[in-house]
Amino acid sequence: MTTRLGFATQQVQAGYTPGATYTGAVPPISQTAAYQFSSLAEAADLFALRQAGSLYSRNASPTQQVLEERVALLEGGVSAAAVASGQAAVAMALLALAGRGGHIVAAHQLYGGTVDLLHDTFADWGITTTFVDQDDHEAWSSAVQPHTRAFFAESVANPVAQVLDIQAVADRAHRAGVPLVVDNTVGTPYLVRPGEHGADVVVHSATKLLGGHGTSLAGVIVDQGSFDFGHEPERWPQFTKPYARFGDLVLWERCGRGQALTTLIKSQYVHDLGPSLSPFNAHEILLGLETLDLRVARQAATAQQVAEFLQQHPAVARVNHPGLAGNAWHGLAQKYLPRGVPSVFSFDLHERDHDGAPDAAGAASAPIPAPTLRTAADFAAGFERVARVVDALQVVRLVANIGDARSLVAHPASMTHAHMTLQQRADAGITPTTIRLSVGLEDPEDIVRDLAQALR
Ligand SMILES: *Cc1c(COP(=O)(O)O)cnc(C)c1O
Repeated sequence: MTTRLGFATQQVQAGYTPGATYTGAVPPISQTAAYQFSSLAEAADLFALRQAGSLYSRNASPTQQVLEERVALLEGGVSAAAVASGQAAVAMALLALAGRGGHIVAAHQLYGGTVDLLHDTFADWGITTTFVDQDDHEAWSSAVQPHTRAFFAESVANPVAQVLDIQAVADRAHRAGVPLVVDNTVGTPYLVRPGEHGADVVVHSATKLLGGHGTSLAGVIVDQGSFDFGHEPERWPQFTKPYARFGDLVLWERCGRGQALTTLIKSQYVHDLGPSLSPFNAHEILLGLETLDLRVARQAATAQQVAEFLQQHPAVARVNHPGLAGNAWHGLAQKYLPRGVPSVFSFDLHERDHDGAPDAAGAASAPIPAPTLRTAADFAAGFERVARVVDALQVVRLVANIGDARSLVAHPASMTHAHMTLQQRADAGITPTTIRLSVGLEDPEDIVRDLAQALR
């Protein structure tokens, strides 16, 4: 019934019906590690997956289940699994798809933690990744190997705010017989629903805009139900072969389309590795979700205003905001983000004093140059220039987070992307003077005035 309700209605109501057990108007925090069974027969059924329900909070709590259902509906998906963090959401989704010596094709333009996961930990475990420029559609297809099991990219990357051509990459994935997994943390389902454009699995760091207040870590994986794991059964034994752990049931037959992936994630990967979401954090994210549309729309509008201010500032060499005409991803933003462009974007200071004046075309309309390899000395010089601006800010705070109610600033080269190689930074479009902004809910004039005084 709730699927027919509007976005805003779903974000405050979906997944929770006060009833005999829970009569509070707001979902309660089920702060218990485990649950009492009415009989041993019921316990046996729950453990064997013959019956759904709460048994132990590593797998699920009722608070978490409300969150899962609500995010699944907001993304237009079938089911969701909520986990301890966005990092865990990416790891669990990709392990469930590729965790048998599989291969992943992923965009260069990824969150630093995801690059670390794929490049280091997954590689150590024998899960390999080929990184491609996400805008080079042919490169996605060329990178496919016989054991490729997933394509992975972000709907809107950061700090450079490249907009993914979801449809084009989904088509390439499906031609290769694998699902497209999209990290929609920066996009949010209010601005873009990747599943409507062909993505099969959507992951979130709910820590960011879904929660929206910077209080709690959480992650969510949504199965859109679009990918048919039964089509090539030998490729997906985790879904199509008898699962010894659960009395030889076959997940694809038992759970079907849209449920098998989240069931595998919970009953095997979260169960075995333990990145469980605390009921308290689930509750914090639910509270934040109730205002998702109001916050995201307001933050996007303010960010557009801030980007236009920065675009005409003489100290600024480039503004990476796809809402600006002339930005390389402006066309894709118009296609995929008709309600507004995310509030997470970046700008580059001029790297030297003598190029302090904007070129004739204006700073932001200068095309994004091909990634240039900067030296360690360039980065040291960039750090000094950026520090003078960032340390002068008073309203905008220096915090390594995004999607908070407060406006936050970060210097990717010395913070979130500090341990990347010079080549990886160039591939992601990060220069020595790239400054990331996550625009919050303050008065727009205060944010602009603060940036103006700091840049001066
Ligand atoms: C923050 C972030 C993550 C990781 O999420 P955590 O909740 O910090 O673990 C993953 N992807 C993107 C795009 C992020 O911004």
